[in-house]
Amino acid sequence: MESDRGLAGAPGRSTARAADTDLGDAARRRANPDRRPTLAVWKFASCDGCQLTLLDCEDELLGLTEQVRIEHFLEMSATEGPSGGRAELSGRGPYDLSLVEGSITTAEDAERIQHIRRISRRMVTIGACATAGGIQALRNFGDVDAFRAAVYARPDYIATLETSTPISAHVPVDFELRGCPIDRRQLLEVITAHLSGRKPQIPSHSVCFECKRRGTTCVTVAHGTPCLGPVTHAGCGAICPAYGRGCYGCFGPAERPNLRSMVAQLRRDGMSEADILRVFRTFNAASPEYAPVADLAAEEQDTPRAGTETDPERPA
Ligand code: SF4
Ligand code: SF4
Repeated sequence: MESDRGLAGAPGRSTARAADTDLGDAARRRANPDRRPTLAVWKFASCDGCQLTLLDCEDELLGLTEQVRIEHFLEMSATEGPSGGRAELSGRGPYDLSLVEGSITTAEDAERIQHIRRISRRMVTIGACATAGGIQALRNFGDVDAFRAAVYARPDYIATLETSTPISAHVPVDFELRGCPIDRRQLLEVITAHLSGRKPQIPSHSVCFECKRRGTTCVTVAHGTPCLGPVTHAGCGAICPAYGRGCYGCFGPAERPNLRSMVAQLRRDGMSEADILRVFRTFNAASPEYAPVADLAAEEQDTPRAGTETDPERPA
């Protein structure tokens, strides 16, 4: 989890990779006296929402660009570049910090992420797609050919993998920032930590902790509302419970989630096996932390609490 993957004092494999790029950096600095660290932002299968979070740092963006040189960020670029876009999709590097959004869903993606890892000293994955396969990982539980035929007039034109997988399933990752989309304050903290050579201060506790801190009444205890707060990573400030709704887990798994207790509680709050599977698979379907839920939800169910109705449209 994040707390073990600080950008400072990075693991051995990342240190080796940094050494690989030192020679290139030295040559680059001789040619360019600008000594700001370089930042690159990459997109794979995703909606771009997490990249937009960087542009949403309106008050901090100018200050940030005084500290880092943004060398690759197609979402922010006005032109395609001289090659018409193909080379720009992969970049040349090396880059001090790469932010990667999106999941791996095509064979081309799987090749491109290897290249980007080679030219990146540090790699941070941002958002549910990059850290847990995203909504597109729902395909992992169905028949991709059937989906393709249902959606496209010419499915034979569509080349895609059977699964959508997180970036860490393909290359070593130095830090994973969760959320759909990510939180701008957490993103700024990760970038600032990189610039300072320290570990990002991203709490690994749950949404429940954030509810307590802001004084929000627990929606489960007070109203019997199903809520994934106990197993969901902090970062949003516990927005949904503050407005009387259950958390539906968009920030992905908290550290060491107690899924057995969570599933038992959801059953007591009236959720069926299908409801439980659906709510866990919405945004973070390929998360390894949530994977045991399928077996737990299939175990013999308790009798739903009297007077509690299950609304299949209600996420939590
Ligand atoms: S994690 Fe959510 S907001 Fe970010 S790119 Fe994926 S779908 Fe969009
Ligand atoms: S669903 Fe949960 S994690 Fe997502 S914004 Fe709401 S409270 Fe936060």
